[in-house]
Amino acid sequence: MKQRPSRPWRFLLVEDDDLNLELVQAVLEAVGYEVLLAHDARAGIEIARRERPDAVLMDVQMPQMDGLEATRTLHADPATAGIPVIAVTAHAKKEDEQRCREAGCVLHLTKPLDTRALPEVVERVIAASREHAT
Ligand code: MN
Repeated sequence: MKQRPSRPWRFLLVEDDDLNLELVQAVLEAVGYEVLLAHDARAGIEIARRERPDAVLMDVQMPQMDGLEATRTLHADPATAGIPVIAVTAHAKKEDEQRCREAGCVLHLTKPLDTRALPEVVERVIAASREHAT
């Protein structure tokens, strides 16, 4: 059973590629999410701490700090440790998935993203994190 909260779900996208950022933003806003945007890992961590989004979509390949290090940082901070992080990489290799899990990501998606499936995937991740929290 789906339980919609009183406010729209808030989703943080951390992605250095503007095109990907706009694409995912459009897809999630179309189904009613509030979408927060960060173009790099440091900005993403700041926004996560301040806004406490319901979930994060984290690009792994970013300059300076990568998405895995950002995910480890979020998990090390009690304020953000409970926020589920979905990793997105350009690679479909098994060891990439392993690295994402070790960093604390709940799920690993590969580019190009299946945008039609994305809202459902995100909803499942948020629902699962709620179950763990109670
Ligand atoms: Mn990237």
